[in-house]
Amino acid sequence: MSEAYQYLFGPVPSRRLGRSLGVDLIPFKRCTQDCVYCQLGETPCTVSERAEYVPMDAVLSELERWKASGGQADHITLAGSGEPTLHLRFDEVFKWVRERTEVRSVLLTNGSLLYLPAVRRSAALADKVKVTLSAWDEASFQQIHRPAQAITFERLVEGERAFREMYSGELSVEVFIVDGMNSQIEQCRKIAEIVRSIQPDRIDINTAVRPPAVAGVQPSSLEHLQELAALFGDRAVVTASFKQTDVSTDIVSREMLLGLIKRHPSGAKQLAQEFGVSPKELKQTLALMVSEGQLLMQDRGGETYYFCRG
Ligand code: SF4
Repeated sequence: MSEAYQYLFGPVPSRRLGRSLGVDLIPFKRCTQDCVYCQLGETPCTVSERAEYVPMDAVLSELERWKASGGQADHITLAGSGEPTLHLRFDEVFKWVRERTEVRSVLLTNGSLLYLPAVRRSAALADKVKVTLSAWDEASFQQIHRPAQAITFERLVEGERAFREMYSGELSVEVFIVDGMNSQIEQCRKIAEIVRSIQPDRIDINTAVRPPAVAGVQPSSLEHLQELAALFGDRAVVTASFKQTDVSTDIVSREMLLGLIKRHPSGAKQLAQEFGVSPKELKQTLALMVSEGQLLMQDRGGETYYFCRG
């Protein structure tokens, strides 16, 4: 994207979604949960109250500007700095996508507000929805996700099941594995049973490959994830490892890098893979952005990660 946008980022090349334009409706780290593995850091104060956190008219006008400038994407995805269903008018993005483009829309949500019928109705306007379910009871849910008071495990599961009943689009469930919290076979058997009751089209098995909110949170190994994935049946796929995308991007602008790093602090290798460019080239750009004060570098677990300054 050549022009500056406040609410749009990318398009980011993605193996599953092709070129995905991100729409961020929530101020940084406003979320219903405070997951121990969150790559954005800890949630200062969890919330469950829905509001117009950013002006929807401004978001829609950025989308119009992006379209008018010849913007191209395979998907438009609601994702970013917090939980998108907290925004009272998030359905309007999906309506815009349907009315104004041929592009398919995606909602990435932790699923915690789907117990509310209004949220389910709005979410059902997306062509694809991904929810999360990584616990098997209230205690494990509290330990991993540290939710706002109104959010309970029972509500989460009921909301996700009720959503599946009314939603005919593509529904994925992401199971986020945290070593030592939900990584045992018996624990995952219980999670798998609940996931089966939701009847998703696909199950993504993920783990904390990026720096987590809580120090000491460890990813599970690829081999262990593959063993766990087998418990979830043939719709389960391990998505944790960063793989080369099929999409090649010739030019990665600084704005694209900043848009992604702001929402997903990453290492040079991961960024290179996500954008489909050589790590060597990208490292030079990143070093320049560090020297000019746009980015900060931090060593985590022997790897260098880039963060947005401020
Ligand atoms: S991982 Fe997602 S749901 Fe969990 S705290 Fe971070 S933004 Fe919120």
